[in-house]
Amino acid sequence: MECIFCQIVKGQQETDVVFENDQIIVFKDVNPKAPVHLLIVPKKHIKSINELEEQDKDLIAQVILLAKEMAIKHKIAKSGYRLTFNVGRGGGQIVDHLHLHLMGGGEK
Ligand code: 5GP
Ligand code: ZN
Repeated sequence: MECIFCQIVKGQQETDVVFENDQIIVFKDVNPKAPVHLLIVPKKHIKSINELEEQDKDLIAQVILLAKEMAIKHKIAKSGYRLTFNVGRGGGQIVDHLHLHLMGGGEK
C-alpha cells in the first residue's frame, strides 16, 4: 500500500490542508501536540532526511521558508515555535515520508 502522506498529496485521504503549491503541501497534524501543529510535506516521496540528496536542496530550503511563513500566518512567529524533523524510528519518525513539524502556541 502507498504511504499515507503520498495518499494525502493525491487527495485520496481526508485531511485539513492549510496550504499547497506544486511542490509542497501543509496540513494539520491529526494528533496535535500543540495548539498549532502543522506538517510541512514535500510532495516528492523522500523517506527521511537520511535519504535527502544534493538535488533536493532547493526543495528542503523551501520547506523551511514555508514553515516560517506558516508561523506568521498562524500567529505564532512572535511567541515562538519548534521545527522538528524526526529521522528514523529511534528519532521518533513514524511516517516514512519526509515532513517538518511546526509546533507552537503553548503546550497542550
Ligand atoms: P513522525 O512521528 O513520523 O515525525 O510524525 C508523523 C505525524 O503524522 C504524527 O504527528 C501523526 O499524528 C501525523 N499523522 C499520521 N497519520 C496522519 C494522517 O493520516 N493525517 C494527518 N493529518 N496526520 C497524520
Ligand atoms: Zn510518500
